[in-house]
Amino acid sequence: MQKIFKTVLFVTTLYSMKSNAQTTLPISNAKLKVHPLITDSWSGNPLLKGRYVNLEFQTPPRGFGDVMKWKRMKNPYEEEKKIDKFKLPIADNLTDLKSDSTNGIFWLGHATFIIRMNGVQIITDPVFGKATVVKRMSDLPLPIQEIPPTKVLLMSHDHRDHCDKKSLKLLQKKSTDLQYFSGLNMEELLNGLLKKGTVGQTAGWFQEYEVDSSLGFRLWFLPTRHWAKRGLYDTNKRLWGSFIIQFNSGLTIYFGGDSGYGNHYKKIASLFPRIDYAILGIGAYEPEWFMEENHASPEKAYQAFIDLNATYFIPMHYGTFDLSDEPIGHPEKVLKQIKEREQNTGVIIPVLGANLLQKTQ
Ligand SMILES: [Zn+2]
Ligand SMILES: [Zn+2]
Repeated sequence: MQKIFKTVLFVTTLYSMKSNAQTTLPISNAKLKVHPLITDSWSGNPLLKGRYVNLEFQTPPRGFGDVMKWKRMKNPYEEEKKIDKFKLPIADNLTDLKSDSTNGIFWLGHATFIIRMNGVQIITDPVFGKATVVKRMSDLPLPIQEIPPTKVLLMSHDHRDHCDKKSLKLLQKKSTDLQYFSGLNMEELLNGLLKKGTVGQTAGWFQEYEVDSSLGFRLWFLPTRHWAKRGLYDTNKRLWGSFIIQFNSGLTIYFGGDSGYGNHYKKIASLFPRIDYAILGIGAYEPEWFMEENHASPEKAYQAFIDLNATYFIPMHYGTFDLSDEPIGHPEKVLKQIKEREQNTGVIIPVLGANLLQKTQ
């Protein structure tokens, strides 16, 4: 057994060395345009030692030593966490979600949203069950088979709580003409997880995808402060990011993927002066010394919403998977306090499966 394990490790290492040696990661997609306001100043995604890095904080991701340090520390929320029975509520009325002709924004849990406009359905980071080994703490509002077919898949990055093989298979049972949009160097992974022949595009930050006009929107890939990893040797080899979806009506939605707080939000706001909805993660932030590089607390996410100058803030990435030290219901509790303190009616506290598109839109 030991021998087999060693052999596997040896072969994997060799393979990894080989792939390290042979590949230079793309810094942009030569076929796509960069946002016109920064064409002159942006030469493509920065690389450090052959791997992608963040715009502002270019330190490599924390290693095993820091993970051990975190695990050895006492969690100040330990007791609160044990008694927290929070469960995300599900809407009583799911008619809008089930109807393929109704426009809407619907949360299915974690980072999975259905965004539907004029009969075109988009899904973000679909995970319908557990995230590999992490158990799901909230229910799907309804079985995925009852949700109308999806045309567009937006994949923010390669982490397993966002990019899940089983969920993609399930999605494609019903969505036969699905196409994907993601970050640079994601095609090999996605082509392996999706049905053979599925078409897609990958982009560098600030690039606009070529979207068929029949879909009724324009789409950009934009920075986040995060990282990437799925296997032993692929740290930061696939680009992570966020999306701006700009519908023909002018309605603009920002899907923030996973991100720590940073100056990229102000940069995005300078390129997109109208953002109606900012969908931003508020969970997996404790302990902050370890997590803040990759995830935002409710307070920091609220600041990102202000920086983006968006009208509405839809929080995500909480209540579904227990990934960090804060109790599962903590992010929502804190965001409710912020909403009250700031008297900001743009902050939406979402219910799973409900139509979050506001009446004025
Ligand atoms: Zn992630
Ligand atoms: Zn995540």
